[in-house]
Amino acid sequence: MTRHYNFCAGPAALPEAVLKRAQEEMLDYQGRGLSVMEMSHRSAEFVEIAERAERDLRDLLAIPDHYRVLFLQGGATLQFAMLPYNLLGRNGTLLGQGGTPNYIDTGIWSRKAIDEARRLFSAHIAASSRTNDLSAVPRPEEIALSEDAAYLHYAGNETIGGLEFDYIPETPEEVPLVCDLSSSILSRPLDISRFGVIYAGAQKNIGPAGLTVVIVRDDLLERGRADMPSLFSYRELSRAGSMINTPPTYAWYLAGLVFQWLKNEVGGLDNMAAINARKAQKLYRAIDESRLYSNPIEPLNRSWMNVPFVLADERLNALFLDEAERAGLLNLKGHRSVGGMRASLYNAVPEKGVDALIGFMGEFERKHA
Ligand code: PMP
Repeated sequence: MTRHYNFCAGPAALPEAVLKRAQEEMLDYQGRGLSVMEMSHRSAEFVEIAERAERDLRDLLAIPDHYRVLFLQGGATLQFAMLPYNLLGRNGTLLGQGGTPNYIDTGIWSRKAIDEARRLFSAHIAASSRTNDLSAVPRPEEIALSEDAAYLHYAGNETIGGLEFDYIPETPEEVPLVCDLSSSILSRPLDISRFGVIYAGAQKNIGPAGLTVVIVRDDLLERGRADMPSLFSYRELSRAGSMINTPPTYAWYLAGLVFQWLKNEVGGLDNMAAINARKAQKLYRAIDESRLYSNPIEPLNRSWMNVPFVLADERLNALFLDEAERAGLLNLKGHRSVGGMRASLYNAVPEKGVDALIGFMGEFERKHA
């Protein structure tokens, strides 16, 4: 059996130790004689797995007691819609009478969040990176909220553009800050108390696809519209312990194993951040020092997790991908909307994998450029 290095943007690499543990426990979970997949979500065994996962996530991110953690389905994309339903006020009616959602537009994912909000509500663009070709995030002084702002939403890390915020935006106390952290949650420590809501699809740094984690400040649970479906309602989901209906039990269990790996084997998010910083810095350095590869993002906003790059000679793209795959370096093709290459360096991509990629890129340049 050979496991290759997987640079996929998501669903992405999982820690090998986690996969092995899941394999060991697959047929017989800790002597219970059945798989986690076959357990009732109401069973004592599963409730313990679920509660432990939440406790470990709370420890890792130092989530304060006045925040709820929800384990949901629907992906980050459903959060694009659930947010306005939950934050526009109990009496919020269509088209924003509960205030106007405000958004920072830094690329494809934040734009999708805006488009989703606009299907039913209005949305104000408080700042945008469109004026600089999505190569830098707006500076704090460029963020202009509308007078009736209900919340401010931004994407902490644009997975496709490879653009990451270097700061947490400030908002007035009554305007909760909302962040899509799908592709950078758990990559480094974070001051949760600055946010009203944080959400992330699991399939990058948390676990397999099918699970979405939402962290929401207590007082915001009361803001939701009265007339939304129960599965949209943070308040009702929170009251039911994320189990209004059957949750994605196996994905929740695997996420729990990833949290244990981060705590026990990596040693927490300070250590993870140091490793991630090293991985990203060495790849960007290799790109900057080469004549074949380039990355257009302002150094301050270069993503630690997703490193897009292009080859000076596009005719080499197919050969690059082909040779990379043969060298055991998988999924380096850039997103179909932007082309080029992208190496995603999530937590589970080992530093040796990044070293192997850099070695391969250098050799490819010497051979072909
Ligand atoms: N936001 C960001 C930043 C993402 O990277 C993605 C997925 N790549 C999404 C949202 C959408 O996530 P999902 O597929 O879980 O709906």
